[in-house]
Amino acid sequence: MRVVQVKCPRCQQPIYSKVKDLAFYCQHCRTMHIRNGGTNIIDFDIAEFSPNARGDRVYMPFWRLFSSFTINQANVAGGTFHKLSRMIKGTANGGNLFIYVPAWETAVDEFKRWSMGMTEGQPMYSLRQDFNNVERGPTAITKEEAMQLADFVVVTMEAERPGTLQYLDYSLQVHDARLVYLPFVRGAQGLVSGL
Ligand SMILES: [Zn+2]
Repeated sequence: MRVVQVKCPRCQQPIYSKVKDLAFYCQHCRTMHIRNGGTNIIDFDIAEFSPNARGDRVYMPFWRLFSSFTINQANVAGGTFHKLSRMIKGTANGGNLFIYVPAWETAVDEFKRWSMGMTEGQPMYSLRQDFNNVERGPTAITKEEAMQLADFVVVTMEAERPGTLQYLDYSLQVHDARLVYLPFVRGAQGLVSGL
């Protein structure tokens, strides 16, 4: 496996990375930075594992997009946006929402499963300061790519109930993106949430 060595942009300590990962973490000063053309220090969250999460633990990266959503017109059987109207905090015509986009390289089914699961579930977690020596999954999706996928997540969620989606006229604005490491356990059927 190819080993990449870079310097931490904050403390100048060397960082070694064994896998293809856009996000570099400095264990010395706990700085995360993204190398994608340039070098950008970013804010990030590390979520605490549930004490019940036993097994092969791994942290997987998500872009958590702080978004606002305005429903201009909806013509949906049943008369409303089914899922979004339940989830958004605000008025019936819009509000704010965290959209979660998996940042690792996923197959389409896995992408749908975790983007919808986390966006609908709006995970609650306490934060920790380090990874506690738990493996960290590589980030393959840039912040800009994640922001472009926000629409896809919304449309996919609403289209989950066949026949209900007739016509959607909405605007979605993504204001901010933060890299959030959520806890998982590797099971026989793939990843299981460790929250
Ligand atoms: Zn550092």
